[in-house]
Order: sequence, then C-alpha cells, then structure tokens
Amino acid sequence: MSYITDKLGRPLRDLRISVIDRCNFRCTYCMPREIFGRDFAFLPKDQLLSFEEIERLAVIFVGLGVKKIRLTGGEPLLRRDISTLIEKLTAIDGLEDIALTTNGMMLGNMAKKLKDAGLKRVNVSLDALDDTVFKTINDSNTGPARILNSIDKAKEAGLGVKVNMVVKKGMNVQEIIPMAAYFKEKGIPLRFIEFMDVGQTNGWNYQKVITKGEILQLLNQHYRLEPIDPSYRGEVARRHRYADENAEIGFITSVSESFCASCTRARIAADGMLYTCLFASEGFDLRQLLRSGMSEEALKSTIEAKWNNRTDRYSDERTEASAAKKKKIEMSYIGG
Ligand code: SAM
Repeated sequence: MSYITDKLGRPLRDLRISVIDRCNFRCTYCMPREIFGRDFAFLPKDQLLSFEEIERLAVIFVGLGVKKIRLTGGEPLLRRDISTLIEKLTAIDGLEDIALTTNGMMLGNMAKKLKDAGLKRVNVSLDALDDTVFKTINDSNTGPARILNSIDKAKEAGLGVKVNMVVKKGMNVQEIIPMAAYFKEKGIPLRFIEFMDVGQTNGWNYQKVITKGEILQLLNQHYRLEPIDPSYRGEVARRHRYADENAEIGFITSVSESFCASCTRARIAADGMLYTCLFASEGFDLRQLLRSGMSEEALKSTIEAKWNNRTDRYSDERTEASAAKKKKIEMSYIGG
C-alpha cells in the first residue's frame, strides 16, 4: 500500500462517492425546484458509474491510502440495490469505515438491510423540527416525523447516527435550540453546518451565513458547553460537549474557520468525474478511463498523479468577490 500526498503535504484518506444525482427533496438551498424541475436533465442510467466500476475505483483508492468511504448523492437511497454496493465495498481489504449521508426519507425501511450489508454509520440531514418550517425548506410533503422515525429505526438496527443541520439566516435559526434539545435528550450528536457557497443556484452570500460563533452564542444562553479535542487529524467537525451530560454537538465551519490545511478528501461524482475539492470548477473523467480498458496499474498511477498535483484551498482563500466569480459544481451532483 502506498501513501500519497498532495503539493501541500496532505495525504489521501477519505473518499466521497456520489451514487446518484437525483433526490426526492427539493431543498431550497441545494436543489431549488425552479432549476431542478420536471425538465431538468439528470444523468441517464448508462452515464452513472456501475457498482462494478465504483468497486474498481474504491479498491484503487484504498490502495492509495483511503481508509473511509462515504456514499452520498443526490439521495443515495434512491440508487437501486444500494446495499449490494455496500456489500462489495465491505469486502475491500484495508477499508476501515463505510458511511452514508441521507435525507432519511427512505431510511426507516432500509436501515436493517444496510446494516446487514456492512454499513457502519449514517449522517441524517434534518434542518428543522417544526413541520411547516421543514416542509418549506425541503419543498416536498415530507414532515420531520418521518425522518425522526427513520433515525430511531437506524439506531435500533445498530447503525451509528449523527444528524446534520444546515443553518441559514431567515430559514431556520429559530430551530437551533429545539433541535439541540431534542438530540441532546436522545444522545445523538447534532452537527450545525454553515451555509456554503457550493454550486451556482442557491443564491449564496455572506449575509445569509450563520457562523459557528453565532450559533454557539445562542446555545451558551441555554447550555454549558465545552470544546472537545479532535479525535484524529483531519477531523472536519469542531466538537463541543454538554458539561452535564454524555452528549455532544459539532460545527462544520467551512465559511468561518476553513479547514483546507487538513483536508484529506477526494470526491467522485455520480458520472465518475473526480474532484479534489467541494468547490472545484473542473473534474477529471475517470469513467472514460474505466471504460477504455485501461489497466488497474495505469488507472492507479493516473489518480496518484492527480492527487500529487493537488493545490486546492478554496475555503482558505474565499472572499465575497471570489465566491461570486468562481463557477462551481452543484452539491447534488458532486455529492454533499
Ligand atoms: N440527500 C442526502 C442528504 O440530504 O443528506 C445527501 C446529499 S446532500 C447534498 C448532503 C448534505 O449537504 C445535506 O446535509 C445538505 O443539507 C447539505 N447541503 C446542501 N447544500 C448545502 C449548502 N449550500 N451549504 C451547506 N450544506 C449544504
């Protein structure tokens, strides 16, 4: 096994694989219905990587140092037979962790099968507990009760569960304390995600961001919280624990405290494009190489060279002007 590093000395440790670009929600900050409506051209089936192709790539990436794979999308549970893919990934020697990010809508019925296939953990996205607020955000008819039920089912099935809440000004700030209270009681880690300038369609600007500092200030009025040291190099969430209980929260601070220096993550979009940053403008077509009959060795050297040349540090350098100017890939396609 080789351990490769990029131009800034960062190793390759994590791989996010988007398995589908479709989603059953239309969250206003991610896949607004005006853009992702009936006429939107999603990827046709033959352009998605097959499970065999994903497996081939996963083996190569693990050979280059990847320890953890996260499946995402779009909504990964919409990909037919996803548990078959998880079984294939579970069998890869050297891969230590397989996780999945989901909106939770279909998780309740699938949790046990996913766990049996080898999945270890799920991150469930939930931005509000209030029925009206949640339905307004996801622009569908699914209320929070269904997602909360899925979370319980996932726990019962033995999956590790964390909950991710994107916080955006004017959208769900009033939900911060109810969400914190609910998941503290359940003992489930809740992570607050700063609204990020991914893609071109979500109308991002700094004024809509609620930072970690602002959220903490609010939480400190209700709870006694203390910071926790990172549990490993490159841990993305800034974690805090409740002083009086065995529960914790975390922050994903891509905007207010960027973490490019410790970013060890590559991403493969649903059509096989490789990206070395969430905010990338351009990717590298791995599907074409996979389908060209290229050998595993040649594929491995090509991917290694891509990582060796990586210099991305978009969030470190972000300004209002650079965010407005740069063309970026949609989150639903590159995989959140
Ligand atoms: N459908 C799955 C889900 O809902 O978790 C996986 C894909 S979704 C793109 C992954 C995560 O990205 C979700 O938690 C979503 O809220 C988050 N997300 C999407 N757009 C975002 C943005 N502009 N800023 C911060 N988080 C965002």
